[in-house]
Amino acid sequence: MKQIKNFKIAVLIVITSIVTLISCNKDDDSANIELNSVTNYKTPKYIFYFIGDGMGAPQINVTEAALNEPEFQSTRTKSVGIGSLNLRQLPVTGMQTTHAEDRYITGSAASATALATGYKTSIGTIAMNSSHTKDYKTIAEMAKQKGLKVGIVSSVSIDHATPACFYAHTDSRSKYQDIGQDLINSNFDYFAGGSVRHNKYKNYSITNFINDASSNGYTYINTRSAFDALNKESGKVIATLEKFKTNTSDGCALPYLIDLDALNSPNDKITLSEFTAKGIELLDNDKGFFLMVEGGKIDWACHANDVVSSIYNTIEFDKAIGIAINFYKKHPNETLIVVTGDHECGGLTLGYSSTGYQTAFNLLQYQSMSYVEFENKVRNWAKTKNATFQTALNQAQAAFGLGNASLNSNLGISDYERNLLQNAFNRSMTGESTHEPEEISVIYGSYDPFTITITHILNNKAGIDWASYKHTAVPIPVFAMGQGMYEFSGYYDNTDVAKKIIKIAQLNK
Ligand SMILES: [Zn+2]
Repeated sequence: MKQIKNFKIAVLIVITSIVTLISCNKDDDSANIELNSVTNYKTPKYIFYFIGDGMGAPQINVTEAALNEPEFQSTRTKSVGIGSLNLRQLPVTGMQTTHAEDRYITGSAASATALATGYKTSIGTIAMNSSHTKDYKTIAEMAKQKGLKVGIVSSVSIDHATPACFYAHTDSRSKYQDIGQDLINSNFDYFAGGSVRHNKYKNYSITNFINDASSNGYTYINTRSAFDALNKESGKVIATLEKFKTNTSDGCALPYLIDLDALNSPNDKITLSEFTAKGIELLDNDKGFFLMVEGGKIDWACHANDVVSSIYNTIEFDKAIGIAINFYKKHPNETLIVVTGDHECGGLTLGYSSTGYQTAFNLLQYQSMSYVEFENKVRNWAKTKNATFQTALNQAQAAFGLGNASLNSNLGISDYERNLLQNAFNRSMTGESTHEPEEISVIYGSYDPFTITITHILNNKAGIDWASYKHTAVPIPVFAMGQGMYEFSGYYDNTDVAKKIIKIAQLNK
């Protein structure tokens, strides 16, 4: 009896072992197949890194929703196909978490340090550890050391937190003079976009900056003709807009795309996608290049809860991605494109309490200027004290379509909305309000009350809402195309994006 039992146990052990062996083999085989498709790639020598500041999934999605409307297919955006962005062509998608070392909701310096170096750091720190005792080497510096040419392009100032994290090391993102010095000393080949924040310099000026840059071999240009004339023989270049040599309006950022047509000087109309195309032209060489492009004003528009300005700038950012995709098609075996954001901004969502399941994105197409341009008008009224509530409403109608029921009956203003606008207008003109101070920060943030009430009402009518005037902590999509792209599949941390690029492009070798 005991023998039979032992025999039964022995048989059971043998069967179990065989089953385990078979299933193990099966697992090993499938793991190998998966691993091969992930690791079977060539080392890319052309690396594109696109960072949409403040660009989470909602910012992408609302842009595609708007692209079905005629105005968003206008001359400003004509190269974009209806209803879909170029980034849809990137075959691999992942998702990254964004928290900083010392705060769950990140800021652009900490998140860009993660995306540029593979390390977490504290809020406000540029490519250093959180105790500010050690510099973190950036992937752009690694690329330069490896012999690749390096370009840094941004639609905000080129010393802003996101671009700075690729070439500067400092304990504070607001140390613009130090960041400017690091820029000049980086020896990178191409800087383009907005200017440097020279109004933040002490005993130093834009002229000093340009002189020092030129001593280090940089050509500084700020006109359309000089930009068009740039070529492979131009050497190291800093390319910016004309107006920033004398003023620093709107943080030295390129104008919002929605405001571009209204500008006069061609020297101030060079766009992010043009700076990107020029970068490829100048950097292209046999050893390869690393090009980082930041869509910086998607974030600024979302801080101000202005979805239309965010949409136009996302379209422009995507146009730059389209240029990289065209380059990829000519060099598929040597190119990697990675597109992501540093964090979401504004808590943007598609859906609003009083519109329920309904959306009306067509209402967004009547907005014709950014919140910044409209704010300037409102501030001027407050100064000159010459605007009545009715003139303000007329101006809102002209700039946003809001209140023009003949364009679309949904644009009509209800008594409730009129009341919101009246309260906001009073606050904009006199600083007075019937609201409690705590309520003020919820309904207006730190923005002009009348302007932000207009964007809120217009956005809500379209079925869009906002939870914040700051960043949020939701995970951010990552898109990849080209050599090593499968590495970007999955759900990981923002530090892993840089680590993956370093590994794929062998930047630390
Ligand atoms: Zn921001």
